[in-house]
Amino acid sequence: MTNLTELFGSMVFNDRKMQERLPRTTYKALKKTIKNGEPLDISVANAVANAMKDWAVEMGCTHYTHWFQPMTGVTAEKHDSFIYPADDGQIIMEFSGKELIKGEPDASSFPSGGIRATFEARGYTTWDPTSPAFIRDKTLYIPTAFCSYTGEVLDKKTPLLRSMEKLSSVSVKLLQLLGKNEVTRVTTTVGPEQEYFLIDKKMYDARPDLIYTGRTLFGAPAPKGQELEDHYFGTIKSRVAAFMNDLDEELWKLGIMAKTKHNEVAPSQHELAPIFATSNIATDHNQLTMEVMKKTAEKHGLVCLLHEKPFAGVNGSGKHNNWSISTNTGENLLDPGKDPENNLQFQLFLAAVVKAVHEYQDLLRLTVASAGNDHRLGANEAPPAIISMYLGDDLGALVDSIINGTEYKSAGKTDMLTGVDVLPDFKKDTSDRNRTSPFAFTGNKFEFRALGSSLNIACPNYMLNTMVAEELSGFYNELKDADDLDAAIKTLVRKTFTEHKNIIFNGDNYSAEWVEEAAKRGLCNYRSLPEAMEHYVDKKNIDLFVKNGIVTEAEIRARYEIELEHYIKELRIEARTMIDMAEKNITPAVIEFLSELTNAAAAKKSLSSSYSVYAETTLIEELSAKLESFVKKTAELKTAVEKAPNHSSSNLEEAKYYRETVFALMGELRETGDYMETKTSAKFWPYPSYGEILFGV
Ligand code: ADP
Ligand code: MG
Repeated sequence: MTNLTELFGSMVFNDRKMQERLPRTTYKALKKTIKNGEPLDISVANAVANAMKDWAVEMGCTHYTHWFQPMTGVTAEKHDSFIYPADDGQIIMEFSGKELIKGEPDASSFPSGGIRATFEARGYTTWDPTSPAFIRDKTLYIPTAFCSYTGEVLDKKTPLLRSMEKLSSVSVKLLQLLGKNEVTRVTTTVGPEQEYFLIDKKMYDARPDLIYTGRTLFGAPAPKGQELEDHYFGTIKSRVAAFMNDLDEELWKLGIMAKTKHNEVAPSQHELAPIFATSNIATDHNQLTMEVMKKTAEKHGLVCLLHEKPFAGVNGSGKHNNWSISTNTGENLLDPGKDPENNLQFQLFLAAVVKAVHEYQDLLRLTVASAGNDHRLGANEAPPAIISMYLGDDLGALVDSIINGTEYKSAGKTDMLTGVDVLPDFKKDTSDRNRTSPFAFTGNKFEFRALGSSLNIACPNYMLNTMVAEELSGFYNELKDADDLDAAIKTLVRKTFTEHKNIIFNGDNYSAEWVEEAAKRGLCNYRSLPEAMEHYVDKKNIDLFVKNGIVTEAEIRARYEIELEHYIKELRIEARTMIDMAEKNITPAVIEFLSELTNAAAAKKSLSSSYSVYAETTLIEELSAKLESFVKKTAELKTAVEKAPNHSSSNLEEAKYYRETVFALMGELRETGDYMETKTSAKFWPYPSYGEILFGV
């Protein structure tokens, strides 16, 4: 490996390269745009474009692409070469400021949720200078936002950028009210921890369910699962280690600060955590990370599965969204500091987050809803579908003391006595971790733990930013004319904690008692995507986005329809894949095995009628009965899919039908199929088993 500090960011047009390659005035103007959100001049864009192109061409690039995040959930790109005809019949390499700033992909083939007719094809991508351009596969990638000709937002990045602006402007106003005049900008930061599975490509290729849906739709449990707890943090196998090293290098080249890697709970499951960045860059980097994971796996004869529940019976994969807010002066606004009981600024920001999570728990729930994540939430491996917050003993005690007007006693950092002379003693953290909470305070940030592994983190983050901005601007209005500011803050913080304490829960979120308790507290418990998604268009939620200028009502309704449509399509593909596997492979395989058993029994009997055919006949009887039920259930599922209500009447209705009828039948079919797998000779079973897949690397 080359020198790591040289390797890092070598494929990124980062700050250092801009300084080296841009005229001083251009560099300064661009920095103003990046740091303070000031509008960009075309002459600056021209100079930047030229410098970017020169660098890219030196690096061997022939093409550039605007890279954007449409509502499909994956990224999109359309490559153009730098070539321009020259007078002498040759070519020159050109890239203008206009090409850097604006791209024109055809918008009609991206989901728009019905806000546009299909003939309205014009769409624009706009350069996002706050996220640096980078090189992949001899192409210069330019991060961009995506909107339609008439200005409707068609992507995930635009609302995120707007929410960051909004949170910044209200926080700055509030902080200046508190006397922090040197604060001119506030940013949200995110560190997303990414879980994934890694399996052998040969196994993957033999499983149509993995190919079409990303998860196994059939598969009896292997004799061994995750019960020995020997995989979590276990020694990394050399083939996986080679993949991880390669992955780190690829990510580092792209300027992504891959930091931590380890084995996760389920066999074949792993995790990667980067060092946090601003929400915008963290989002782009997480999308890139997922893409690079897939590509790198291929090089190693492996496949990286990012589905939330690739295998039944063992843990699925999630993503932890570590989130915080900090100022341009380097202060983390969610850091309680040494003296939280007198840190009114911290209390104010904490109160805003508590109020936001309580009032908009439904939005946080629905932003993590997906067909895949429906398998995890509430299944004792991920936080439940009920959104609550964990503050830990220390902050919990602080909040109690504020509500009750009593004295606060910090647990304080105590010494961890190892009791072994050669081991050094150290200071313990003030609070333990709560692995069961969907939204946990972890010292100076919140960890939103309910995200599915394949989710684009832009959505949860723009919702989170917007709801907190909304509460902060409410606070600002209440405080701005106060005569005694400290007293007013204390009253406001106490009132807020008192009114919203129901969202705080420090206990075991996996317990049955919590479900009951949460219902008593009036917290939402939406178990599936259709149930949750319905609330996207509640008036309170539409008002939140419209008032804060994040998206319009028409755009919210479009997003809502897109989510429902996507869910319906995913479930339909799963059902069709199951039917296909059942009819083309599983049923014929069991019939063949039965015929072999029958022939074997007959052959035995023909040798001597005294030979026992007990084993054969018992198996024949049992399997025949199961097969009959399997064939009938396959037919039932087929009918259910054919009879699905037409979505043109209502996507919500159709989504609910898929959840309640189709999904339930799929479960039944699987159960029967998996049982037959346990009784059928491995020689006949058409697909690699869970054991082979999960322990095959
Ligand atoms: P752990 O989860 O083991 O406690 P860390 O606390 O170090 O690990 O961090 C977990 C993730 O949180 C990492 O991706 C880290 O970069 C991120 N993180 C740390 N501080 C912040 C912050 N202020 N804002 C956002 N993310 C953060
Ligand atoms: Mg963590």
